[in-house]
Amino acid sequence: MDDQKIKEVCKLGQKEATCRYLMAGPAGFECAKNTKIARALIDARVEAGDFVAQGDNCDGEPPLKIIKCARCNWTLRPEQENEPCPGCSALERKNW
Ligand SMILES: [Zn+2]
Repeated sequence: MDDQKIKEVCKLGQKEATCRYLMAGPAGFECAKNTKIARALIDARVEAGDFVAQGDNCDGEPPLKIIKCARCNWTLRPEQENEPCPGCSALERKNW
């Protein structure tokens, strides 16, 4: 995501106004709003009151591509998708 949007729309660093779906990922800040699993986890934590960021500021970005090692659950960067897992050298992947 571009820095201007992160600052102006996601309101990074503005406490309660900050978007709840803004996530720090391996490639910088990313929007988790349209990523089903991440969104459900975030909404549950906001409801439970243990999340400072409360914002819901836009329609979100395209879903995140979360790539994990099928053997050890390591989270891989997109460019590592076809390389051996840094954790266990496996090539099997699972997509969330
Ligand atoms: Zn692995």
